[in-house]
Amino acid sequence: MPVYEYECSTCKKTFEVNQHITDAPLSACPECGQPVRKLISSSTFQLKGGGWYADGYTHEHGSAPSCPHSGSCTHCSAAS
Ligand SMILES: [Zn+2]
Repeated sequence: MPVYEYECSTCKKTFEVNQHITDAPLSACPECGQPVRKLISSSTFQLKGGGWYADGYTHEHGSAPSCPHSGSCTHCSAAS
């Protein structure tokens, strides 16, 4: 279950909320009732990082690999 992090624009309080992807996003601060904005939570960032790695791995084994490091990484040196 994804964790969403919000920051209150008024009292600057931050809070993490476990929400299903289909749940409505939090819009009001539970402390003061003012609007909140969504932050990128650390757990979401980790998921994206894992996805990026998996995607790069797939490209490496494709017929036309594209290096995200402009060909300067060790993986590309070994492949060429
Ligand atoms: Zn607040």
